[in-house]
Amino acid sequence: MVVVGAGAFGGWTALMLRRAGAQVTLVDAWGPGHARSSSSGETRVIRGTYGDRAIYTTMAARAMQLWKAHDAQAGRARAPHTPFFHRNGALWMFSGDDAFGRASLEPMQAAGLPVEWLDPAEAKARWPHISFDGVTAVLFEAEAGYALARRACEHVVETFVAEGGGYIVGHVPHVPVEGASLRALTLERGETLQADHFVFACGPWLGSLFPDVVGRRIRASRQESFYFGTPAGDARWLPSHMPVWLDMARRGRQADADDTAQLYYGIPGNAHRGFKVADDTYGPTFDPTHGDRAHTPEMLAEARAFLRLRFPAIADAPLLGSEVCQYELTSDTHFLIDQHPAAANAWLVGGGSGHGFKMGPAIGEYVTRVVLEQAPVDAVFRLVR
Ligand SMILES: Cc1cc2nc3c(=O)[nH]c(=O)nc-3n(C[C@H](O)[C@H](O)[C@H](O)COP(=O)(O)OP(=O)(O)OC[C@H]3O[C@@H](n4cnc5c(N)ncnc54)[C@H](O)[C@@H]3O)c2cc1C
Repeated sequence: MVVVGAGAFGGWTALMLRRAGAQVTLVDAWGPGHARSSSSGETRVIRGTYGDRAIYTTMAARAMQLWKAHDAQAGRARAPHTPFFHRNGALWMFSGDDAFGRASLEPMQAAGLPVEWLDPAEAKARWPHISFDGVTAVLFEAEAGYALARRACEHVVETFVAEGGGYIVGHVPHVPVEGASLRALTLERGETLQADHFVFACGPWLGSLFPDVVGRRIRASRQESFYFGTPAGDARWLPSHMPVWLDMARRGRQADADDTAQLYYGIPGNAHRGFKVADDTYGPTFDPTHGDRAHTPEMLAEARAFLRLRFPAIADAPLLGSEVCQYELTSDTHFLIDQHPAAANAWLVGGGSGHGFKMGPAIGEYVTRVVLEQAPVDAVFRLVR
C-alpha cells in the first residue's frame, strides 16, 4: 500500500493502515508538517461544536479519544511534555446570531461532549482580561482545546516508522491511471512504487495532481495568522489560564454580507510563540508551492483592530511573527474521501477546508475501514455529492 502525503490526513492514514496490518510506504515531497503544507505551523483548534453538521461532531469526539490515546502512548500526557492535544477548552463568543451555537448542542450531547451556555457577565468574571463588549451569547466547550500541528505530524510519521512503516521523501509528478486500476507510481527521481492500493492525501496539491477528477473542486485559499507578544510574567494569556477562543460576528468586510458571519479565532501560548489571532474568512486563491508567504499590512491591521476590541490590555502588543498558510477548500467545506472514478484501488483524501487537522486520527481510522474493509463512504464526502 502506498500513501502519498504525510500531512494530518496522510500521516494518520498511513499509521492506521499499518496498525491494521498493511505493509505501507508513505511518500512526501517535503516532509510531515512542512512549512508549505496545510498542516504547518504551531497549533490547530480541536473542537466538537459544528452547528448542525453532526457528522463532524461525532468524528471530532472520536478524534479526541484517539489524540488522548496517542498522547498517553507517547508519554506526552504528563509533565514535562507538552501534550499533542492540550485541553484548555474552547470559548465561543457570539455577537447577535448564535444559531451556530444552538444547533451544536444536540450533536454535542449525542457525542458525549460537554458544552454549556455562559452568561456574558459570568464569562467576564471568569476571564476579566477579555472584553465581551457586544457579545450576546457565550458557549464553553470544556473538553476542547488545541493540537500541536507540525510537531504532531512529525511524531505521527516517527511512530509509523517505529511500528514498521516505510517513509520516503519523493515527489509524485503525475498519476498514470490506465484501465481500471493503478499499478505503480514513478517518483520524479525515477524510483517506482508498486502497490495494491494507493491513497492520495495531497492537501492543497490534490487538484493539480488530479486535474480532471479533482481540479477546481479544491481551491487553496491564502490565510494569515499573527502571533502577538504578551507581557512578561503574565500567565493570564497562556493556555493554563485561557481557553482557545472563537468569535463569530458580522463585522468589517462581512458587515454587508447577507448571511455570512466573520469568525476570528485564536490560541493562547502556541508553544511560547505568542498569542495567535487569525481570521477564518477565505482569502484569495493561492499557489501552495510558489506563493509568497509574507503577511499583508491590511490583514495585520485587521488582526490588531480585533485585538484592540476583544483583548484591549494587549492591543499594542508587539508582533512576534506571522504565518501564511492555505486552506484546501471544497465548495461546501465537506471533506473529500472517495475512490478515483476510473481506478478502484486509488483513493482521494483531502478537502480539510480549514477544519480538518483535528480529525486526522479519525480520518486515518475511517480511510482504513473504507480501503481495507470496503466500508461505505458517507455521501457528504463523495466526489459527486
Ligand atoms: C491557517 C490554517 C488554520 C487552520 N486551523 C485549523 C484548526 O484550527 N483546526 C482544524 O481542525 N483544522 C485547521 N486547519 C485545517 C487543517 O490544518 C488542514 O485541513 C489539514 O492540516 C490538511 O491536512 P492534509 O494532510 O490534507 O494536507 P497537507 O498538510 O497539506 O499535507 C499534504 C501533503 O502532501 C504532500 N504532497 C502533495 N502533493 C504531493 C506529491 N505530488 N508528491 C508527494 N507529496 C505530495 C505535501 O508535501 C504535503 O506534506 C487550518 C488550516 C490552516 C491553513
